[in-house]
Amino acid sequence: MPTPAGVYCALGGFHIDPTRPVEKAVITHGHSDHARAGHGAVLATQETLDLMRLRYGEGFAGATQAVRYAEAVTLGGAKVTFHPAGHVLGSAQVAVEANGTRIVASGDYKDVPDPTCVPFELVPCDVFITEATFGLPVFRHGDPGAEIAKLLHSVALFPERAHLVGAYSLGKAQRLIALIRQTGYDKPIYLHGAMEKITRYYQRRGVDLGRVELARGAGKADLAGAIALCPPSTLKELWSRRFPDPVTCFASGWMRVRARARQYLVELPLVISDHADWDGLTATVAATGAAEVWVTHGQEDALVHWSVTRGLKARPLDIVGYGDEDETDAAAEPTDSGESS
Ligand SMILES: [Zn+2]
Ligand SMILES: [Zn+2]
Repeated sequence: MPTPAGVYCALGGFHIDPTRPVEKAVITHGHSDHARAGHGAVLATQETLDLMRLRYGEGFAGATQAVRYAEAVTLGGAKVTFHPAGHVLGSAQVAVEANGTRIVASGDYKDVPDPTCVPFELVPCDVFITEATFGLPVFRHGDPGAEIAKLLHSVALFPERAHLVGAYSLGKAQRLIALIRQTGYDKPIYLHGAMEKITRYYQRRGVDLGRVELARGAGKADLAGAIALCPPSTLKELWSRRFPDPVTCFASGWMRVRARARQYLVELPLVISDHADWDGLTATVAATGAAEVWVTHGQEDALVHWSVTRGLKARPLDIVGYGDEDETDAAAEPTDSGESS
């Protein structure tokens, strides 16, 4: 059932991705709006727990329990299993089963390949609780490989300029690096200090990112012709002045919208998203076979309308407190190294 703190399972006595402190939380992934500190107990994948620890410190929850994908856990009268969501490292959909009914809460997800995390798994269910960050027909993300090609073409065209790419610190930054590496690009890629801990964690978990160095330690000559990643909010900060004549880029599903690109003064918008686009959302809703759809956050109305016209029961949950990671300021998080200049 929906509650002000998020979706709640009374039979199991737990919330999923609660937006305020609760006794027992099941958490889908490490983004800060879904994974908050201060719960009594947290059940999540090992990666999500580690990412929460990196962000909030050791005491982020009273107790923690790590669950592997497909491992069944009994909570009260409910059976809970985690399934890959393809969103970021460790991200999971949560399936809850009781009395012959299966409800799946997607968390955030995408149904396209990502070299940095386990691919999305379709889980048939009776009720599907979905996000809708890009839940409008205008959002079609296209091929991320083509966007990376655009970036590398620009790098080749302007060998004296740095390419400064705004990207969310958890997930997007590491995926971009991995996508760039897939093309054979083997020069060092530079990072804003706010991205260091998470990126090193991805590397420790076996995600191959090649040579990744802090921009802080590089000279202006090294940065000419280089690619550097930073939180979107730092694109126009003092920090960016160390780069020679930077080309400002931003990797986000929102870059489909020209006004957004202009708002961030982006010269080279890259449409790369860690969320399903309109086709992905609707295809997934249909494929789950669910007769009932709840939409947690994002552009809820269009997806609810689409579901109803397909003969499904559907409702928006309007959960307050889930944001959009590309719009938030990763550099402002407390454990980031405070590299503001
Ligand atoms: Zn997310
Ligand atoms: Zn979200």
